[in-house]
Amino acid sequence: MKIPLADLNEQHKNLKQEIEQAIANVVNKSNFILGEEVAKFEQEIQKYFSAKFAIGVASGTDALVLSLMCFNLKQTDEVITTPFTFIATAEAITRAGAKPVFCDIDSATYNINLDEIEKKITSKTRGIVVVHLYGMPAELDKVKKIAEKHKLFLIEDCAQSFGADFNGKKAGTFGEAGCLSFFPAKTLGALGDGGMIITDREDIADKVRMFRNHGTAKKYYYKMHGFNSRLDTLQAAILNIKLKYIDKWITLRIEKAKYYNKLLAAVKNIVIPVIPTLPTKHGFNYYTVAVKNNKRNALMDELSKNDIACAVYYPLCLHLQEVYMSLGYKKGDFKTAEGLQEEVLSLPMYPELSLESIDKICSVIKNAV
Ligand SMILES: *Cc1c(COP(=O)(O)O)cnc(C)c1O
Repeated sequence: MKIPLADLNEQHKNLKQEIEQAIANVVNKSNFILGEEVAKFEQEIQKYFSAKFAIGVASGTDALVLSLMCFNLKQTDEVITTPFTFIATAEAITRAGAKPVFCDIDSATYNINLDEIEKKITSKTRGIVVVHLYGMPAELDKVKKIAEKHKLFLIEDCAQSFGADFNGKKAGTFGEAGCLSFFPAKTLGALGDGGMIITDREDIADKVRMFRNHGTAKKYYYKMHGFNSRLDTLQAAILNIKLKYIDKWITLRIEKAKYYNKLLAAVKNIVIPVIPTLPTKHGFNYYTVAVKNNKRNALMDELSKNDIACAVYYPLCLHLQEVYMSLGYKKGDFKTAEGLQEEVLSLPMYPELSLESIDKICSVIKNAV
């Protein structure tokens, strides 16, 4: 039997009736744009994160773009981020009108390296976007201190970190804004695109609310150039259902990660992910190992022969991407990130993944490496 990377069918099987009921409710009310399900979901997320405001938008990418746009960035402004992330992180900085400045990562956590950040700060630096990659929270206390010391804004890309805590406080609540994604494969996934911004700052909340709806505070009166970027009512209705189960699902993800780590701890050429101790919590959207000594390709072949899915997040750092050639980076600029792009491998991870499946995956790995 095939073991997928994530298994939404398994999740939806148990929710089928609830989801169908929720969709029928929305269809009956026919209030499709910014309907009450959106407001309800915003309230629930706001409570979940103990944040002052939560604003639903069309995607995680838009959550990043719209929150960055609150800072009136100019072309010469610089925003520091990691090159080891999904393109949306840097794309949002570019879309908001500023220049991404990349900074190498930490080899143990795959997150931005705090010792490197300060070296990248110039008189043009306006902010930092941290990414909690795979669900592992960045060292938010330290990064916040750096931001405060240099008067920079801090935005958290929480697309992969739903449910992660840093020192007992939710990742996403440390900076000016936390940006969530409800892309189907994320820990809290919709049946399509969706995103949200959480913030304690009323000015950011007000602005994002206008941005998402053509720059209006009052219908047909436009204060600023905006977007059409609203969280879809149907998606919000479905997310309201899934949110009830999310803590249980995250606990299951962490259990699977611990089991993987136990089986892989002593396997040669495999570096297992760090599982932080409470009150810091990894959300495990992805379970990602590093495969040493050029064994990754052979391992991927072997997994594929055994019908086990895997993925490389991400095979080419952003500073080496064609789209960012004009920034002038070159190979060798960020050695840790470039090394890891050849080594990382994400293995099947979802709440319903059975321990027997993990046994099988790990025995294939042991034999292959
Ligand atoms: C998925 C993802 C995004 C973008 O989210 P979308 O909802 O797909 O737009 C941004 N950053 C990271 C790190 C992601 O993994």
